[in-house]
Amino acid sequence: MAASALLDRIKNEGIEYVDLQFGDMFGMLQHTTFVASELDEDQLENGIPFDGSSIRAWKSIEKSDMIFKPDLSSAFVDPFREQKTLVIFGDIYEPRTGERYERAPRNIAHKALEYLKSLGIGDEIFFGPEPEFFIFDGVRYYIEPRGSYFEVDSQEGPWTTGEDGVNLGHKIRHKMGYFPATPQDTQMDLRSEIVTNMRNMGMTVYLHHHEVATSQGEIGIKFGNIITAGDLVHKYKYAVKNTAYKHGKTATFMPKPMFGDNGSGMHAHASIWKDGKNTFAGDGYANLSQTALYAIGGLLKHGRAIQAFTNPTGNSYRRLVPGYEAPVKLAYSATNRSAAIRIPYVTSDKARRFEFRCGDASGSPYLNFAAMTMAMIDGIKNKIDPGAALDKNIYDLPPEEAQSIPSTCATQEEAIREMLADKDWLTAGDVFDEEFIQAYAEFRLKSEVEPMKLQPTPLEYDL
Ligand code: GLU
Ligand code: MG
Ligand code: MG
Repeated sequence: MAASALLDRIKNEGIEYVDLQFGDMFGMLQHTTFVASELDEDQLENGIPFDGSSIRAWKSIEKSDMIFKPDLSSAFVDPFREQKTLVIFGDIYEPRTGERYERAPRNIAHKALEYLKSLGIGDEIFFGPEPEFFIFDGVRYYIEPRGSYFEVDSQEGPWTTGEDGVNLGHKIRHKMGYFPATPQDTQMDLRSEIVTNMRNMGMTVYLHHHEVATSQGEIGIKFGNIITAGDLVHKYKYAVKNTAYKHGKTATFMPKPMFGDNGSGMHAHASIWKDGKNTFAGDGYANLSQTALYAIGGLLKHGRAIQAFTNPTGNSYRRLVPGYEAPVKLAYSATNRSAAIRIPYVTSDKARRFEFRCGDASGSPYLNFAAMTMAMIDGIKNKIDPGAALDKNIYDLPPEEAQSIPSTCATQEEAIREMLADKDWLTAGDVFDEEFIQAYAEFRLKSEVEPMKLQPTPLEYDL
């Protein structure tokens, strides 16, 4: 879209504010709001300066100027604002050199796509993300000098207090949420409202449903390419969180908010296209091509290191345990939900793809998809054999057999250290910048891993 067309839209639709948004290295949306009538064509085309000094792990204060270049095709009207506001996503550039800022996740996704093209492997890579989430009536979390305290309220769960006229009758029990109709499903209207908001934000949505855990939901959206799929995940989370907030509720994408119930993943369906054809369609296992099998080989080979980006938080590792439909073994299968990679049954070659089930929505979707792209490229480039498929329930394997299959990482620290020791596939083609990787790892280790080691938890009091 041309800048002049966007300015026309601002005028014709009576838009008062333009909210520039971008996702940071840790998956949080950041924003700054401009008065629409003061924006001009030059700014929309060449970028708008802003102060990037306080964004986590970005610029130091002495060199904080950054340029936000809006991606005009991403513009949508924000359904949550009282004044008419247009949101635009964009890319971050260095003011002096005019180069893309190497620590901005969306830029890394751009570079991964360019690298894929430069190798002639494909000209497009698609991701169909499936974020899951919980909506709670309230989450109370205190850190006190003498310990921490954490409590969750949900209309559906055993946490209901009976205050405020809340019904104390039968509720959906742990793992029984998929998927009894209303009134057991208490969040149907809320999810429908989220979907209406998503559609008003320009997203294509197919369905929504309650998920397996108490108070857990999922919304089925149309796939995008590596950039737009990243945008879609940010929009998805924005819509869920803002709609819940309007109702006084709290939505969370944390991977394992509740002990003893399923966690929230973000499965990602992937396919690489070239010259208008799906390169993943073929006549190998589950009708996949050799290219797709090599891509799987790359994902499995780097399946532990990649978790630094696909399962980036400490909480991610409470989800990756047996018994909750989350993958624990780095294997692939056409049938199996306990494997890291599942090949869904589809009837057409256009839809041929596989699903990487490890990831969750607790980090940057651009980094998640860029890391997946780089692992797939490594597999295809180096013809990495994925081995035989594993069509059995992996949770029930005899111990010797289970031991022979590599497991997903057990902790955030393990994933980051694996990545630091196995990162050439990420830095290939300069897609993930070496300094970016060091800054990312250092932040996660110092600001997350270390404090979590030091902080007492409620369980320790019981023990
Ligand atoms: N919630 C499960 C997970 O943690 C996935 C359930 C599903 O297959 O949709 O990955
Ligand atoms: Mg699901
Ligand atoms: Mg899935």
